[in-house]
Amino acid sequence: MTDPHLPPVSRPNVQFDFSGQRALVTGGGKGIGREIASLLARSGAAVVAVSRSAEDLFSLSRETGCEGVAADLGTVDGAKRAAEAAGPIDLLVNNAGIALLEPFLDATPEAFDQTMNVNVRAALIVSQVVARGMIARRTAGAIVNVSSQSSSVGLPLHAAYCASKGALDQLTRVMAIELGPHGIRVNAVNPTVTLTPMGQMAWGDPARSAPMLSRIPLGRFAQPLDVAQAVAYLLSDGAAMINGVMLPVDGGFLTS
Ligand code: NAP
Repeated sequence: MTDPHLPPVSRPNVQFDFSGQRALVTGGGKGIGREIASLLARSGAAVVAVSRSAEDLFSLSRETGCEGVAADLGTVDGAKRAAEAAGPIDLLVNNAGIALLEPFLDATPEAFDQTMNVNVRAALIVSQVVARGMIARRTAGAIVNVSSQSSSVGLPLHAAYCASKGALDQLTRVMAIELGPHGIRVNAVNPTVTLTPMGQMAWGDPARSAPMLSRIPLGRFAQPLDVAQAVAYLLSDGAAMINGVMLPVDGGFLTS
């Protein structure tokens, strides 16, 4: 039973209108990205989802009508080709990410490189292709990078992951400054633990999740919809003067 003293989990009752706009969501096959792709599609956007697993893209397409592009964003060529295959884009969400957990003393260069390639370099490459297209078409656009609360706090076992999200925040700031004059807004969302396959993998052990949960004033972890609605807001005209922010979606974790 739900504790009546806790705030309600987000319900899909917030309305957005992205009619006539084309969106690209990376990592749209599972978890947060799938929820973002679904919300944007329900809100009238034509959505292209990029993911590694083709089966996830098939089921997403069946359920929501999103187009799918199967690609490995961890390679330079894969990221560039996927962005080009998506066609002209108005709204971009760089959501694809991986978390390879290792104690710091045993952290491997391979896992570090792989993490940076997917979590940071792919966002750079995909955004370059998309933003060049927006500028050539003289279209105002919006980009949201899915970062994490771990960009500004250290978490055990998350050396490469925390470093990648800190880098993604900084990439977001530079993009906001350089693309703003072209009418392209760039922001980030920084979720707390979110109940997805990745969240389950990293925080499924109650011994690890309990201390984290105790630091969230709202008393719960995030649902994918909590994050998707924040992303949709930053993409929307409601956020027309918001550029270069890192928006925590963390129930107050970062202020506690
Ligand atoms: P998830 O459940 O693991 O889903 C990640 C999605 O990204 C999957 O569809 C995955 O496809 C795709 N992806 C991963 N590597 C890829 C690659 N190299 N090429 C193409 N697609 C790739 O993760 P999530 O929890 O939804 O996380 C989404 C984003 O939110 C990530 O950037 C993550 O860092 C961030 N975030 C998550 C949490 C959390 O607690 N869950 C908290 C804060 C921030 P495959 O499964 O086919 O590989």
